[in-house]
Amino acid sequence: MSTEFDGMPAFDEGRGELVGSNGEDYVVISAEALRRINKQEEMMLGTGSWVIWYNSGKSVGKTDGQKYAPLMQTMDVDKVANYLRQTYARYGWGSVVFGGIDLKSGELVFTVSNSPLVRGIKSREPQCWFVRGFVEGLTSELLGSECTAMEVACQAVNGDHCEFRLRWNSEIQK
Ligand SMILES: [Zn+2]
Repeated sequence: MSTEFDGMPAFDEGRGELVGSNGEDYVVISAEALRRINKQEEMMLGTGSWVIWYNSGKSVGKTDGQKYAPLMQTMDVDKVANYLRQTYARYGWGSVVFGGIDLKSGELVFTVSNSPLVRGIKSREPQCWFVRGFVEGLTSELLGSECTAMEVACQAVNGDHCEFRLRWNSEIQK
């Protein structure tokens, strides 16, 4: 797989479908619509809605992780991280900045600014359950080791950025 950005999904007129570079089916949905779904679910289901977003995020994160895992065979970890950072930014998921990475203890800190899920949202608690699950699923596949993520700061609370702490068992890392 090339380390260049592999392009946005393109409209396939024959299929009448928006298709990604690996044949995935896509749909363009506004961030506003996502936030409304999120809000409506929370109103109906309370904290139970978080589980829906977390589990969904983890599931699609694993799918992406399987797609990108071959990069880990040929590229340094920081290059893979940078490639993914650029890719998700272009898809509109906000600006990711990596903080410390400690391969020995198995910990990575990163921030997300201007995340579409919490843009303009105010909350007393972190809201980014989808991102948290997604990152866990993605990195678990990339590292071949179960990862756990915590959102330790959220733009919905502090008005500025989200911060995630990702941990994995470095003993069994491939
Ligand atoms: Zn957040």
